[in-house]
Amino acid sequence: MEEIKRAAAPHAMLFPFPCSGHINPTLKLGELLHSRGVRVTFVNTEHNHERLLRRSALRGREGFRFESVPDGLENADRRAPDKTVRLYLSLRRSCRAPLVALARRLVPRVTCVVLSGLVSFALGVAEELAVPSFVLWGTSACGFLCTLRLRQLRQRGYTPLKDESYLTNGYLDTPIDWITGMPPVRLGDISSFVRTVDPTSFALRVEEEEANSCAKAQGLILNTFDELEPDVLDALRDEFPRVYTIGPLAAAMHLRVNPGPSAGLSLWEEDASCMAWLDARQAGSVLYVSFGSLAVLSLSQLAEFAWGLAGTQRPFLWVVRPGLVAGDRGMEALPSDFLEETENRRLIVEWCAQEQVLRHPAVGGFLTHSGWNSTTESIWAGVPMVCAPGFADQYINSRYVCGEEEWGIGLRLDEQLRREQVAAHVEELMGEGSKKGEEMKRNAAKWKARAEAATAPGGSAHENLERLFEVLRLDEE
Ligand code: UDP
Repeated sequence: MEEIKRAAAPHAMLFPFPCSGHINPTLKLGELLHSRGVRVTFVNTEHNHERLLRRSALRGREGFRFESVPDGLENADRRAPDKTVRLYLSLRRSCRAPLVALARRLVPRVTCVVLSGLVSFALGVAEELAVPSFVLWGTSACGFLCTLRLRQLRQRGYTPLKDESYLTNGYLDTPIDWITGMPPVRLGDISSFVRTVDPTSFALRVEEEEANSCAKAQGLILNTFDELEPDVLDALRDEFPRVYTIGPLAAAMHLRVNPGPSAGLSLWEEDASCMAWLDARQAGSVLYVSFGSLAVLSLSQLAEFAWGLAGTQRPFLWVVRPGLVAGDRGMEALPSDFLEETENRRLIVEWCAQEQVLRHPAVGGFLTHSGWNSTTESIWAGVPMVCAPGFADQYINSRYVCGEEEWGIGLRLDEQLRREQVAAHVEELMGEGSKKGEEMKRNAAKWKARAEAATAPGGSAHENLERLFEVLRLDEE
């Protein structure tokens, strides 16, 4: 009988695109692999390295090391309005050789490479090293499928738009009912990348290419679970033979073998005052408000949110990170009369331990930009959402969150933000005696239980994680 070869020491080199939305899930995956005896080398860009490590409980953990490579950006590029595009291009241009050189120096030798989305150039690193590669694509499965289908949308002439008037003339409501695995959705739900009039749109091309290049990897890893997106996942599995749905990662982390203190790699300092403030609030009474690590609000959007929150009369905890407001501003941009009016019932912080906050019993609703990490963390915490999507997959995430036939755990704000609607949606979600609110709370509790079951031993995500551990061992030469 042929002997199955097992790696004595599987060693994964992980390299995420350097922003929180990619770093956080990749790090969680790294911790999960490490907890099952896989050696992990987590590669940051030099620019983030010290900033991230200062706060990491993983520093110095046996078998888990951090390394860094230069990102090739000039300092002026870091302040440019298109800094993410510049970073993307710079990584592609300058990181492949340093990653290969780093991997060749590592002992024991690297046996697989795990990437996040947007760094597909590093699939070539795995090729050069002759080891298998895996992509942890950080969006929902529906977000990934929509990104794959950007090509067909372009070929069929839905995007780019003919002119700017198509952004507001109802064209974005065009039904898209031909994507196998998805219910009928609006064109505008697909992704922010269809909302361009530029026939050479860089973002559209990059997203499409990056998603399609996942086919070159040995496995696609998704932070979702089978019960949440069954039809989409069936469709994806027809195209990608090895799909590992291991989410919600936040939930899976709690079931690590020998869990130690969590990694908590965070680009900003977490404000510790949140928990004591929440402890003093009634169960389910607080609205948590956060727009993630990248979103930038215009001053008028900031004002609509602020006055909408003031209009609810509810306690709220709002994360206003430096740079949330256009012009590289943060809290200082909040209107002073809003701050005065809400003084006794709000806490505003620059950054918090979001997973912990969402799981605090005082939190009863989440006003969110519908980033996928935030959405999965909210699902796992059983907290219903008011959704204000604005970029990339946030539109399709919120479509599923709010769809009554899908998850039924949220209400979406109109694209033209209005303070009255912010207040009304929050009340409908959280107010006593709101029939719709009660239904969403019931659905949120149901999805929470399903997420817990999926990540528990025997559950779908747990089994997928086991399959992934196994394949990492078997793929060793
Ligand atoms: N986050 C956090 N503290 C905060 C706000 C956000 O730890 O005060 C984390 C949040 O838990 C999530 C990530 O930042 O894991 C945001 O990722 P998401 O995909 O939701 O949005 P993005 O930042 O990519 O737009």
